[in-house]
Amino acid sequence: YERIKTKDDRKDELAHLEYTFNDTMKLLERNYKKQEQFVSDASHELKTPLTVIESYASLVNRRGISDPKIIQEATQAILEESVRMRDMIEQMLQLARYDEEMVISRQTIELLPVINQTLRSMKQAYHRKFNLIIDPDFETITYKTDEQKLKQLLFIFLDNARKYSEDEIDMHMTETTNLIKIAITDRGIGIPKDAIPHVFDRFYRVDEARNRKTGGTGLGLSLAKEIAKGLQIKLVIESDIDAGTTVTLELPKI
Ligand code: ADP
Repeated sequence: YERIKTKDDRKDELAHLEYTFNDTMKLLERNYKKQEQFVSDASHELKTPLTVIESYASLVNRRGISDPKIIQEATQAILEESVRMRDMIEQMLQLARYDEEMVISRQTIELLPVINQTLRSMKQAYHRKFNLIIDPDFETITYKTDEQKLKQLLFIFLDNARKYSEDEIDMHMTETTNLIKIAITDRGIGIPKDAIPHVFDRFYRVDEARNRKTGGTGLGLSLAKEIAKGLQIKLVIESDIDAGTTVTLELPKI
């Protein structure tokens, strides 16, 4: 038995439909604006290294034959900017892929060997000192996650710690009843308090001039945010200017 719909019922249904429609349109519009902004930021960001490359190439063209020092300086700059452009394009493609769909394949892994591997490759690549400080029962701890994505996440934070500091970098692993915490601490330039909420925005860099020599892209932490969301990891940043930064990854025990 179905109640016969009254005029008021129909009106309600119509109002509900209209509401849903408006909501969907707003969401689509917001996504479209975000995409549009991303494309416009991306072209701007890619133009900057291109301009540098162009001007150095033209300098070599004009005066390089008579001045080997110019060739040296120009090739160095061209190389650096090309690497930056390549990194940027790779990260942009990855972000676009993650925006579409993030495929996560979880497996139970031993955490310590994964962390050690990541640290070893960082040490080898950059000849920096990374200290690992762990609770004794951490030696054999296992966790169900996507190993490659967890490694990528750790790499992004270790790479930033390295880029924005000169001293040793510490990695602490601790455990509470509900969480496994991995904290990465550097004693570097730090992040101003008012900038902390923005560091996960795409292309955001605290101070372009201050950051220029590190050759970053402003995309690392936005990738980290997406990966952490996919793995249900909470990220906490604490930082003091000129004292250093600690990023803590909070892995829920599922
Ligand atoms: P980038 O490629 O520029 O490092 P990220 O998205 O990884 O881009 O980081 C965004 C900005 O946040 C950086 O440009 C830098 O200004 C700041 N930042 C990130 N990590 C650190 C850190 N460990 N110490 C100081 N500043 C940092």
